[in-house]
Amino acid sequence: MARVSTLAAVRLPRRVATLSVHTSPLEQAGTGDAGGMNVYIVEVAKRLAQAGVEVEIFTRATRSGLPATVEMAPGVLVRHVVAGPFEGLAKEELPAQLCAFTNGVLRAEAARSPGWYDLVHSHYWLSGQVGWLAKDRWGVPLVHTAHTLAKVKNRQLADGDRPEPKARVIGEEQVIAEADRLVANTPSEARELIDLYGAPEDRVTVVEPGVDLDRFAPASVGREDAARSAARRRLGLPTRGHVIAFVGRIQPLKAPDILLRAAADLPPDLRDQVTLAIVGGNSGSGLDLAGLAAELGVAGVVRFLPPQDRQALPDVYRAADLVAVPSYNESFGLVALEAQACGTPVVAAAVGGLRTAVRDGRSGVLVDGHDPVEWARVMSRLLRKPNLRALLAKGAIEHARQFSWNHTAASLLAVYRDAVTGYRSQGFGFELATAR
Ligand code: UDP
Repeated sequence: MARVSTLAAVRLPRRVATLSVHTSPLEQAGTGDAGGMNVYIVEVAKRLAQAGVEVEIFTRATRSGLPATVEMAPGVLVRHVVAGPFEGLAKEELPAQLCAFTNGVLRAEAARSPGWYDLVHSHYWLSGQVGWLAKDRWGVPLVHTAHTLAKVKNRQLADGDRPEPKARVIGEEQVIAEADRLVANTPSEARELIDLYGAPEDRVTVVEPGVDLDRFAPASVGREDAARSAARRRLGLPTRGHVIAFVGRIQPLKAPDILLRAAADLPPDLRDQVTLAIVGGNSGSGLDLAGLAAELGVAGVVRFLPPQDRQALPDVYRAADLVAVPSYNESFGLVALEAQACGTPVVAAAVGGLRTAVRDGRSGVLVDGHDPVEWARVMSRLLRKPNLRALLAKGAIEHARQFSWNHTAASLLAVYRDAVTGYRSQGFGFELATAR
């Protein structure tokens, strides 16, 4: 895998065009198409700007009346590109709007002085398709982060989830072949890029996502119980008994239904003391969790909370005895990291990035497979053992401390520098950008 150059003399990129076609960094995460990628783009952009790199984020306008540009933070500009109808366009229909989106991106750049951007960073394959053209037009390198990969997703489909179409696989292959640098969230994602998509090893760099350790912090030592009760009161959750929280988009891939089934399988004495808090909104096909809870006879156990903003989320994690992440696949799993940073142990499926985000037996427990009986067994054991939970809570805080957005942004900047130097040393860039 690529080693990042540490040449001090290399000029930083001054301006980066970040592409996020299908979801806006200004959207509330945890519902619809907005999730970890949105949080990632926001957190990294703010820190790059603090390091002196201006970031302009291009995203599709999904409401009429949106301003053409919004200053999200000093040095971070969000550009709304009109491409297709504002509302009612599903993610699956976006490939037909990529020409319109690309046109908007190229026009925005053409209105600036030549050589405005030094680099394009595309997120998700739809943006990669746009980035690939922008790169050639502007004579700058393309850095691409896939976030999820169709070939990987199709191997671990949830029941009733539709496989990703061939067109996406081809689209991903094209972007991976064209990108100057590929950023993977974990070593396993790096291997998938290399083994499943034929990415050259020297173009792939692992940059782990982070967590805002100032916001997602544990209660002070000795005050954990009081903080838990206060958080529960603020959220309207019972202050007695156990709370298991699920935080994320409600969709088959995230598998919150497994938790309802597991709740039904808890021993009756424990079930009477448990509240399962499901936090988030529907995404894609969604799931009828209220119907399932009624069918399973656990409607009284489940509480649904709407998507919460970043300010409210630490309360959710602190209110919970356990946070459960039963996904069929996660390229990383920011929720797991945020929960641990707040001192809450995580029970997660042993898949994808969750194997990095959770340290099995130290900061939480990784569960093989999605059998609700097994999930009920693991959760019962942890709920019945407060000392074990306290030990895992300590491990969770320590584990989460190893990740920070500052580190993510610094590592990305190193990748950017490397991409710019590599590109220029090949003789590209300057000539193309000035030849227009
Ligand atoms: N999230 C949020 N409010 C909610 C639910 C989720 O802000 O009500 C955020 C959560 O804090 C996390 C992101 O959405 O940062 C989800 O990221 P993750 O990597 O866990 O899953 P993804 O959505 O990328 O599949």
